[in-house]
Amino acid sequence: MANGFIDKARITVKAGNGGNGAVSFHREKYIAAGGPDGGDGGNGGSIILQVDDHMSTLMDFRYKRKYTATPGQDGMGGRKTGKDGESLVIKVPRGTLVRDAETGEIIKDMSDYEPFVLCKGGRGGWGNQHFATPTRQVPRFAKAGLPGESHDVILELKLLADVGLVGFPNVGKSTLLSVVSKAHPKIANYHFTTLYPNLGVVWVDDGVSFVMADIPGIIEGASEGAGLGHDFLRHIDRCRLLVHLVDVSGSEGRDPIEDFEAINLELKQYSADLATRPQIVVANKTDLLADDEQLEAFRAHVEAQGYQFMSMSAATHQGTRELVGRIGAMLSTLPPVTIYEPEYVPRPPQIDTSAPLEIHREDDTWLVEGPWLERLMANINFSDYESRMYFDKMLRQSGLFDRLEDMGIQDGHIVSMYNLEFEYQR
Ligand code: GDP
Ligand code: MG
Repeated sequence: MANGFIDKARITVKAGNGGNGAVSFHREKYIAAGGPDGGDGGNGGSIILQVDDHMSTLMDFRYKRKYTATPGQDGMGGRKTGKDGESLVIKVPRGTLVRDAETGEIIKDMSDYEPFVLCKGGRGGWGNQHFATPTRQVPRFAKAGLPGESHDVILELKLLADVGLVGFPNVGKSTLLSVVSKAHPKIANYHFTTLYPNLGVVWVDDGVSFVMADIPGIIEGASEGAGLGHDFLRHIDRCRLLVHLVDVSGSEGRDPIEDFEAINLELKQYSADLATRPQIVVANKTDLLADDEQLEAFRAHVEAQGYQFMSMSAATHQGTRELVGRIGAMLSTLPPVTIYEPEYVPRPPQIDTSAPLEIHREDDTWLVEGPWLERLMANINFSDYESRMYFDKMLRQSGLFDRLEDMGIQDGHIVSMYNLEFEYQR
C-alpha cells in the first residue's frame, strides 16, 4: 500500500548461539600440572516479542527483515564463564498474529503485554573444568555451545477493537470516531480519505470505555479483493459488535437501502461469521434531511430484518451520545474480543544424518561431533522420554554405534557429545 500502512510482513529471526566451553589448565609457577579450569560458554540471547501500544502498523518490518540476538561469549581460563548474549526484544503492535511462515499456523497472538519468547538462545557449552574424573585428569576437550533457534515467521496485524465501523466511503465513519473519541482520523469529502485503520478509545461513563476501529470504506467487490477494503476486513474480524453507518440523506445520489444491503453482502462474502456479528445500523447525516420520509422507510427496512436501528448527525453531534450509550449497553452483554489460540506445534526438523560424524578418543571417553548432530541436539528435549527415544533412533540409524563398536568402544565408556555425556551400553 502506498501510504505506509503495512499489516503483513515476513521476517527471519535467529536467537544467539551459545558460547563454546574453554579448554584450559591452571598454571602457577613451580606447579607442574594444574587442574582443568576452562570456563563455560555463555548462553545465547533469545528473540522476544512484546506489545507496544505506540505502534499501529508493521511498517518497521518492511525494510528490516532479519533479526538476530547476540551469541554467548566463549568460556575462558581461570573458570571464567563467557558473558550471556543479549536478548533482542522486538516490539509489535497489539493484535499481531505470529504465524509459521511455512504452514501459516498461529504461533502466538500478541494481544497482551506478556513478553513472548519466540526463539530460545543456545545453551553455552561446558568448559573442561567439568570433565575431570578420577580416571580422566587431563580432559583436553570442552563442549561447543548449541545453536540458537531460528524461525521464519509472518506477522499479521489483526486489530483488537470492541467495535468496528463499517459502511461505504464518505458516510461519516471517521467523523463519528473523531466526535466520540480523541482519535484524529482524516476527514474529507472525497472517497477513500481513510487509508488505514484508526483506533479510538470511547468513554461511556466513568471507568467504562471501549475501543472503536475505523477502517477504510468497504466497497462492492472488496470481499473478492477487487479494491481497498478486503485487506481491511480482517481488522474487524475480532470485533464484538459492528456499527454499520449509512448516509441516509442520499447526498451522493445513492440509495440507503441498496448501500446497506451491499455492505452486508460484502461482509457475508468475506465470512459468514462476520455477517452474523451483532450489528447496530446507524442512519447518519440526518441534518441534511428535509423530512422524515426517507429515514422512516430505511428504519422499517432495517428493523424488519431484526437489526437495532439508530439515527444521528455526526456533524452536529446530534444522537452521538445516545449511540455511545447503546453500544456500551450492548457490549456489556457480548462475549470478549477473540484471542486466537496457538495452532503451531514444533515438528522434529528434517535432518540428514548421512554425513559421518567426527569421533575422537580420549582414554575412555569418545568425543562425537558434527554439524547435523549439533542441529539435532538443539531440537531434542532431553527431559522428555519420547524425545530421547527419537534421538536414540536417529543416532542408531546414522550408524554411529556400529562405528564406535568397530573402533573398540566398551560398555561403561563415556560418549560425549556437546552438552551431553552418557555411559555407553551396548
Ligand atoms: P468516511 O469515509 O465514512 O470516514 O466519512 P468521513 O467521516 O470522512 O465524512 C465524509 C464527509 O461527510 C465529510 O465531508 C464529512 O464532513 C461529512 N459528514 C460526516 N457526517 C456528516 C453529517 O452527519 N452530516 C453532514 N452534513 N455531513 C457529514
Ligand atoms: Mg473515513
